[in-house]
Amino acid sequence: MDVQITEPRPPADVAAKQSEETAAQQPAEAHVQQPVEADALAAEAVGYLLQVIAAPQCSNEPPPEALRGIRNFEELLSIAWGIRKMSTALSDGDLDYSPPVQGITIDALKSFQGKLRRLAWQIKQIAGGDYGNKEFFIGECAEALNHLTRQLTQRIASLTKTSEEYKSMSFRDALTGIYNRKAFMHFAEEVFSTMRPEVSTLIITDIDRFKLFNDTYGHLCGDEVLKLFATHIARALRPDDICCRYGGEEFLMLLPGMPLSLGLGVAERLRSGVEKLRVRFAGHELQITSSFGVCETGPTPENQPFNDFVCSCISRADANLYKAKAGGRNMVVG
Ligand code: GH3
Ligand code: MG
Ligand code: MG
Repeated sequence: MDVQITEPRPPADVAAKQSEETAAQQPAEAHVQQPVEADALAAEAVGYLLQVIAAPQCSNEPPPEALRGIRNFEELLSIAWGIRKMSTALSDGDLDYSPPVQGITIDALKSFQGKLRRLAWQIKQIAGGDYGNKEFFIGECAEALNHLTRQLTQRIASLTKTSEEYKSMSFRDALTGIYNRKAFMHFAEEVFSTMRPEVSTLIITDIDRFKLFNDTYGHLCGDEVLKLFATHIARALRPDDICCRYGGEEFLMLLPGMPLSLGLGVAERLRSGVEKLRVRFAGHELQITSSFGVCETGPTPENQPFNDFVCSCISRADANLYKAKAGGRNMVVG
């Protein structure tokens, strides 16, 4: 291209007038040449801008001198570059790019970029468990994300309910409905680590000659005995006491804050209550008795694993239960 314009072009009407005046002064062949040069310059400018806007690869060398002289060309060029860079950044997922130019098209792209940023933030909120903020702006994304948060909220509520049910089931003895050994250990650990009572009473009880119920009246009768017995001892305790079916026909109780002197009284009250129970089964009215082993414990010693600590307490109570059995059953030893 050998045509160069170094000065800004005059407005069209002035240019036309100038052109007429110049044409009148110039020989006929130059008069024919000028539109061809202008066309070529325009074609080069359009080609250059097309490269910037549409070509996959584009050099960012400054435009040829001739194009720089065209009025508003450089401004148009910087907008074209801004659109190119902004579109590429968005397509690459770069939500931080900020073009140094303004204008309706660039501003629209920036606004879209802002919405994408907000969308990304909102997704992070959802991932973090916050489903409250439901303002989205990008067309179908709004409904899609609102639907997602609704679904997640429902699923989480249902899973939480199910997991609570399973947790509660895993803590309960299926036959008697009272806590099982696992629950006892869990709650006892909670008591010793949070309440840290100075003294507590541990009671273990075992139904006397329970095997006879099974052997004489059948297993279902034995089950009825277990249910009645469990309900009786669980109801007789304070809300802060922990009672569980430890296994078979053995039950374990922790009475936090209760010294042995009072704990023995509780065990005696339980024993005499059991003695008065009557199990009605297949037309029979059956009496139950139970033996009790009691011991006192302080707080969990430092450096001793909780399980070891509880097991050593249970062993001491169990030794007293053995004595109660050996001493004739239906008695409390502590
Ligand atoms: P003791 O006075 O010395 O404690 O005698 P016992 O008969 O109570 O003790 P033993 O250990 O001989 O018998 C316990 C029986 O409890 C044996 C076992 O089959 C029965 N058993 C354990 N779990 C259940 C249960 O869930 N249901 C029923 N029906 N029986 C059970
Ligand atoms: Mg027994
Ligand atoms: Mg037993």
